[in-house]
Amino acid sequence: MATLLGAIADDFTGATDLAGLLARSGVPVSLRIGVPDIPPEDAAPFEVIALKCRTSPVQEAVTECRTALKWLQAAGARRFFWKYCSTFDSTPEGNIGPVAEALMADLGANQTIYCPAFPENGRAIFMGYLFVGRQPLAESPMKDHPLTPMQDSNLMRLLAPQVTRPVGLADRLTVARGAAVLQDRLRQLAKEGVAHVVVDAVADVDLEVIAEACRDMPLMTGGSAVAMPLPQLWMRDGTLKAPGARPARPKLDPGAIILSGSCSAMTRAQVAAYAQRAPAFRLEPLSLAETGIGEALNWLSAQPPEAAPLLYATAEPDAVRAAQDVLGRARAGAVVEEALAAIAVAARDMGKRRFVVAGGESSGAVTQALGVTRLDIGAEIAPGVPWTYCESGGAQLALALKSGNFGAESFFADALSCLEEQ
Ligand code: ADP
Repeated sequence: MATLLGAIADDFTGATDLAGLLARSGVPVSLRIGVPDIPPEDAAPFEVIALKCRTSPVQEAVTECRTALKWLQAAGARRFFWKYCSTFDSTPEGNIGPVAEALMADLGANQTIYCPAFPENGRAIFMGYLFVGRQPLAESPMKDHPLTPMQDSNLMRLLAPQVTRPVGLADRLTVARGAAVLQDRLRQLAKEGVAHVVVDAVADVDLEVIAEACRDMPLMTGGSAVAMPLPQLWMRDGTLKAPGARPARPKLDPGAIILSGSCSAMTRAQVAAYAQRAPAFRLEPLSLAETGIGEALNWLSAQPPEAAPLLYATAEPDAVRAAQDVLGRARAGAVVEEALAAIAVAARDMGKRRFVVAGGESSGAVTQALGVTRLDIGAEIAPGVPWTYCESGGAQLALALKSGNFGAESFFADALSCLEEQ
């Protein structure tokens, strides 16, 4: 069938997060790594294109997203979703706003919504302010993110410098009154010329109202969770057929590895917990820049085959700043990403078949290096983190791509045991 919803994600973990939530409905979801260079012949009802453009130069991100839009249109999609991080990771230049405006222009849309809320993971929006758990965004650990430090919590203020047209708010009091009232509010704002509407949501019921009110917009934007009700809404009105049984997980050879390039507070706790029970190797940006990954590879090949070793660049904010002071922010990030990517390829060639990767940019680097073009979505390990299956270098692999802040402290061990249970 033709694609119903075409989604573009600004990073790889964001794409698997969205694909995983859509797949909860049982409807087939296909995730493409980058814009496919083949025409969409076997398109699924939900197609997600994973890009790695969260921190690319604005024009590059816009061009890439427009190309993705064209491919999704060719797959038959008439509704589109622009997926970014539930912590609104961006800078005053972009890329959330500029990409949304470019997609709106291509689709002839005069308005879109912005809803990064993800209540199951503690992301809520109230009066346009984004909260991470009980903390406003700018007081949360996101204030120290290595690439996109978030130092304001107000989504309208964060978005305004990124777009050319007016920004407004549909607040929780409106959302709480249901889809029809929210639609009225959006129409009213459209009359006033407001093109970009931040929409409050603090709980899953709010997301259902928002999805119902906005399902016919050519473009919705947000975190993954606001898209989650769409499959059910389309099944209810007959647009989408109820799904058959989910395919079983493919046969996998043993061998696992954990790679972590995220420095988020949750990943730091996950790395500390896992390092207590498995062999762990710390990657230092400065020595990587000087001498490369040789030492890490020697260490890896010395580990027993049944171990699921951890290699991590994950560090405290002070250590990240120290590396950035010497190498610069972009170079420090790139050195780590290149190292994780090269280690992943070497690990695959050593026979590892199960990969857990922490960090959005880090996952992007690893997946690209493994030459993966398409992922099938499997079981959900934690909200927003499914196992995915793919082919790389002639081998069948399982990848779990975890956004920095997702998962419990025991996530790495959880992921490996979840795969065994499939
Ligand atoms: P998250 O999902 O937590 O945002 P990402 O992988 O997207 O994680 O971003 C983390 C960035 O920080 C990556 O570019 C990574 O290369 C970089 N990084 C990781 N460890 C270090 C470190 N020790 N010093 C400097 N930068 C680092």
